[in-house]
Amino acid sequence: SDHNLEYPHSPGHCDWTVHYPKLAPSGKVPEFADVGCGFGGLLIALAPLYPDTLMLGLEIRVQVSQYVQDRIEALRVTAAEQNADDGAHYQNVSIVRANAMKFLPNYFGKHSLSALFFLFPDPHFKARKHKARIISPTLLAEYAYVLRPGGIVYTITDVKDLHEWMKSHLESFPMFEPVTEDDLRAEGKGPIVDAVYNSTEEGKKVERNKGDKWLACFRRIEVPRV
Ligand code: SAM
Repeated sequence: SDHNLEYPHSPGHCDWTVHYPKLAPSGKVPEFADVGCGFGGLLIALAPLYPDTLMLGLEIRVQVSQYVQDRIEALRVTAAEQNADDGAHYQNVSIVRANAMKFLPNYFGKHSLSALFFLFPDPHFKARKHKARIISPTLLAEYAYVLRPGGIVYTITDVKDLHEWMKSHLESFPMFEPVTEDDLRAEGKGPIVDAVYNSTEEGKKVERNKGDKWLACFRRIEVPRV
């Protein structure tokens, strides 16, 4: 349960310097959020590609979030020892243990995010469990709130039924419009799309099992669709 989790009262109460001691003192806040980040593969893959962008993973499992925190710390130490100057300093990634379905707006202010990732989320197959799915009309309003106009929601899953579910909910929400993989690549977001497909532990598992991967991406628009 969430009872023993501590949450910031609001984004203004988040002390990001604890998470990003080198980069947050300048006033930067996280711009990429990986919801249910698992073992952190996406964050680790993207960190060196966007070294000036702060990224935060949210993961509800204690041991998994601790593992990611340790992994990031180790990468930072190694990078510092090796004097990495190629952007692979990992000072721009961090993780919180959090229930993202309840507390996203506690971490991210209005329009603060440019990318929101839902990669291989838990499918909750049974119909009576669908309300536990991470994409739902109520939650979409929160996602639209924290994303800036132009920001992108990336979803991917190997569960076709969940793909249809996420896609149909996002399509019917007035603050999002579908954006194709080709469009994203044309905009220079190819490296992000590649990481979405291939960088996470779950994505690699699906790859090994030769499963399908369904991608659906949406842009947060400025003026609601009618
Ligand atoms: N995105 C990762 C990947 O692609 O490897 C992990 C996918 S795994 C199937 C789903 C993850 O979401 C699990 O690590 C789970 O603990 C986490 N999770 C589920 N519900 C969550 C919630 N409400 N808040 C944060 N994390 C959650």
